[in-house]
Parts: sequence; C-alpha cells; structure tokens
Amino acid sequence: MIPPFAYTRVTSVKEAVAALAAPGARPSAGGTDLLGCARDDVFAVKTIVSLGRIEALRGIGDTADGGLRVGALTTIAEIAGHAAVRERYRALAEAAASVASPQLRNQGTLGGNLCQRPRCWFYRGGYDCARKGGDTCYAVTGDNRYHCLFGGSTCLIVHPSDTATALSALGATIAIAGPRGERAVPIEDFFVLPEADVTKENVLGPGELVTEVRLPAAAPGTRTTYRKVRTRGAWDFALAALAASLRVEAGRVRDARLVLGAAAPVPWRVREAEKALVGQKLDAKAIQRAAEAAVRGASPLDHNGYKVPMFRGLVEEVLTAMS
Ligand SMILES: Cc1cc2nc3c(=O)[nH]c(=O)nc-3n(C[C@H](O)[C@H](O)[C@H](O)COP(=O)(O)OP(=O)(O)OC[C@H]3O[C@@H](n4cnc5c(N)ncnc54)[C@H](O)[C@@H]3O)c2cc1C
Repeated sequence: MIPPFAYTRVTSVKEAVAALAAPGARPSAGGTDLLGCARDDVFAVKTIVSLGRIEALRGIGDTADGGLRVGALTTIAEIAGHAAVRERYRALAEAAASVASPQLRNQGTLGGNLCQRPRCWFYRGGYDCARKGGDTCYAVTGDNRYHCLFGGSTCLIVHPSDTATALSALGATIAIAGPRGERAVPIEDFFVLPEADVTKENVLGPGELVTEVRLPAAAPGTRTTYRKVRTRGAWDFALAALAASLRVEAGRVRDARLVLGAAAPVPWRVREAEKALVGQKLDAKAIQRAAEAAVRGASPLDHNGYKVPMFRGLVEEVLTAMS
C-alpha cells in the first residue's frame, strides 16, 4: 500500500519549482519508479508534484550549434524511435531501446530515467542501509552479485540508468531549474559517488529538477554505440553495459569515449582504455589493450567477479564490431 500523499499538477517549470519547495514534495514524470519507491517505503512522499502538463519539457529539437535538445519529459520510446537521435546519436537510441519493456518505455521519461533510484535489493528491500541514512552497506557481506566493481565505498550500488551511460559517452549536458534559477551541468559532474554523498545519486539540490538534456554536435567521423548484457532478452537491468564513441580519421582513432554501465555507482568512464586507443589503428592489438585497461583497478566483491571478464569481453566485442 502506498501511504497517503497529496497530489498537485503544475503547468510550468516555475510552478514546479515553487511546489517542490514543500517538505516531502517529489516530482513525478511517468511515475514508473516514483510510485514503486513510495509503495516500498524506499523514501517518504508527502506531495507528488506531477510534471506531466509542462509542455516546455517535452520533445526533441535541434539546437543553434548543431546539437540536439531532449526535453526531460520526452518518453524513452520517443527517443528510441526518433530519426535524428538514431542517425546522429546512435548510442542513445540503442540505450533507450534497451530500457525495460515497451510499456515502461512508453510511460517512462528521460528525466525520470536519469533520476530513478538504484535497484540494490537491500536499498529497495526495507533495509536501513547507508543510502537511507543508516550506517551499513549490506552488500559488503551480503549477496552482491549485481553490485559495483568500481567507485564503491560506503555503498556498493550500480547506477541503473541505460540512458545515463550513453549520454556520458556522448558528452551531454544536463539543464537544471531550481529555487536559485537555472544551471547547466556536464553529465560527468551530474552523478555523484557515495564518497561525495551516499544518500543521493546526483547533484540535484532541494527543489531542483532536470529540464532538458543537451547533446553537442557530433564531430564528423564519429560513430557511437551502446551494448547491454542482461540475464534475459526481455526487460532487465544491465549486468554490464558499454557506451562507446569513436572518431576515426585516416584510419586512426582521434577521439574515444568509453563508459561502462552497471559497473559503478555512476556511469564509469574508463580513460585508460580510451588512451590505449587514441592515435592507434583500431586493430586487434589496440582493442585488447583497451579491454585490459577498462577493467584495471576493478575491485570484485564475493559474488560479482564474473563481471570482470564480462566487461573485458564487452569492450573487445564492441570495439571489434566498430573496427
Ligand atoms: C520493471 C522495470 C524494469 C526496468 N528496467 C530498466 C532498464 O532496463 N533500464 C533502465 O535504464 N531503467 C529501467 N527501469 C527504470 C525505468 O526506466 C524508470 O522507471 C523510468 O525511466 C523512470 O521514468 P519516469 O518518467 O516514470 O520517472 P518517475 O517514476 O516519474 O521518476 C523517477 C525518479 O526521478 C524523479 N524525477 C522524475 N523526473 C524528474 C525531473 N525532470 N527532474 C528531477 N527528478 C525527476 C522522481 O522524483 C523519481 O524519484 C525499469 C523499471 C521497472 C519498473
């Protein structure tokens, strides 16, 4: 049962920011994660502020500098099927297409996908864990088969969002509105590690909401892709994922961005693997070096050691397909 809550609909970002100032107020976009969290007592909700009628937050359009803006209320299905996204930002289209089920993609939005809460079964399962303000991460000694290899400290979650991983490889910027006005944050600074704040996954402060995601113009010669490994082909969160963006000129890699998903509490950029590629031909030797570099420094837990060869293989497979 969901405990009783107040419900308010707003029609502008200004109204949303004002409504979110109330204690215990939370924004709702598609509601596919929020309502589950409220039902399972993951967090308390006093007022649901429905963003659904804010037209300004919808849609996909070109920006003056040749990039693309995607409104926070744009559905995951719309993103997966949008011609410009598929053509210019393939990794995002592929990531969106891999999210959950058709029903969830039709209802779930980009803003909600980026701000959804982690799927750790201790966090979701009624444990008073570190992320909920307790003093223990139960995944340290418990069943940690789906937990992180990198970036864990006081909490061992992995970030659940497929689109976040793809957008990180694409160098997106997150536009935010709040009580102190608007700001734009590079996606690499949007998500936060437990060591910075174990109770939240991103930099949003009280009363702030994501308004849109901005993608920079794709440089000529850039190709991007997203590949997700999951337990089953129907809806499922990633066991391991990779978003790759490569710019190849005259047979050599000039620019590379490789981001692992389901590896860390944030989308995990593997810069050493990128360095192993830049300036090289995309041949088997360079690919193998990048794959080794991608998992260097991993700290497997008792039950998730399988992820190390899985990520290594994923990097090898994706780069080989791009070569
Ligand atoms: C069965 C199931 C399977 C799933 N599988 C996957 C998967 O494979 N990959 C994946 O990536 N996701 C998966 N998800 C998560 C799903 O994609 C999200 O539930 C959905 O994207 C959230 O979108 P929403 O619009 O419904 O968000 P909501 O439920 O409305 O919101 C989610 C959270 O974000 C906050 N929020 C919403 N919009 C904003 C905004 N604009 N600014 C700030 N905060 C905001 C809300 O307050 C809430 O805390 C799955 C979910 C379910 C239930």
